[in-house]
Amino acid sequence: IDGDDEEVAAKAIEELLHGAFEEKKPVDVLKIAFFGTKDYDRTFFSELVKDKGQGTYNSDIKYFDSQLGPETAGLAQGYDAVCIFVNDNASRPVVEKLHECGVKLILLRCAGFNNVDLQAAKEYGITVLRVPAYSPYAVAEHAMAILQEANRRLHKAYTKVKDNNFALSGLLGLDLHNKVAGIMGTGKIGQCMARICKGYGMTVLGWDAYPNQALVDEGLLTYVSKEELLKRADLISLHCPLIMGDNGTYHLINDETIALMKDTVMLVNTSRGPIIDPEALIRALKQGKFHAVALDVYEGEDNNVYTDKSDVAITNDITARLQMFPQLVLTSHQAFFTREALQAIAVVTMENARNFNEGNELGNAECKA
Ligand code: NAD
Repeated sequence: IDGDDEEVAAKAIEELLHGAFEEKKPVDVLKIAFFGTKDYDRTFFSELVKDKGQGTYNSDIKYFDSQLGPETAGLAQGYDAVCIFVNDNASRPVVEKLHECGVKLILLRCAGFNNVDLQAAKEYGITVLRVPAYSPYAVAEHAMAILQEANRRLHKAYTKVKDNNFALSGLLGLDLHNKVAGIMGTGKIGQCMARICKGYGMTVLGWDAYPNQALVDEGLLTYVSKEELLKRADLISLHCPLIMGDNGTYHLINDETIALMKDTVMLVNTSRGPIIDPEALIRALKQGKFHAVALDVYEGEDNNVYTDKSDVAITNDITARLQMFPQLVLTSHQAFFTREALQAIAVVTMENARNFNEGNELGNAECKA
């Protein structure tokens, strides 16, 4: 942009952007390209949307197996919307390509939106809608399930007993009763986890950037500082979103914060992988820290998630090293994966599409164009 002073440049930028924000006219049938779809996605969405908009929702859906990324974004040519999941890539170059293809809406069939460049979407006039809540119970119940799997060494017990090895060595666990649970992030899922911990007879501590007094008033938990939680907790469960930058949660669990924890602490992450620095975790595990670690998500999981690599060498170094530790259990981003959650995701996603198409209030917008 040529312009001698800031005012001229600002005006030119505004005019350039104006095109991106021009009013969108509703189309009769919203054409949606679904990326990274699996058989279960097709099952739950197809129940709602029959071919060419004959079902409950007026949409024409094309399911692609491929994940959204720089190489596949061109598949969206001629579609009004794309529907993506946690492991799809909607970074700036992808958003630019989607804009070129005529896409006006990104539908996230998940809660997290850290894989979408919201600023780029805004600049290109693309609305981003998500499913803020589907089944917080699904995620919290999975968190406790894998935590107990790691704590009571059920993963080892299963294979031992299958092999007719009925000895108990290597399977010693810890009681949760009368222990302290530390919930980092006390939103919808964190609250469910707090209630589950309470059910086990634990004292529950909470830490959150925005504490919720109602949880204190009902006697569910006590808010403490991050440092106090890390020092006192026997079980630490992560439920804050991945936020980059100052006061964010990227590598919240690192060498310094791990050093504050008890040696016998149990750690579970069902939130987002990069909240834990995996190198720091591996360093601490090698030094004998952690009675149990249960990860549904970890930094660097992206190349593995939802793929079958049982017949090839694992090239992701972090995955391979995490698999070394007998007290560590991995699942592959499956905490959300219950029938109830998938039904809710399908309904909310298609409601989002309908509201966008009909120009209704967009309650689930992360970015309104
Ligand atoms: P939520 O928005 O209800 O709760 C998040 C909580 O984190 C809020 O209480 C908020 O105040 C707090 N928070 C926000 N920024 C923070 C910061 N910088 N530091 C500390 N606390 C902060 O979200 P939710 O529905 O409970 O989901 C939590 C996370 O779980 C999601 O962000 C998502 O990444 C993850 N998730 C994972 C799966 C899975 O399958 N593994 C499924 C759904 C959600």
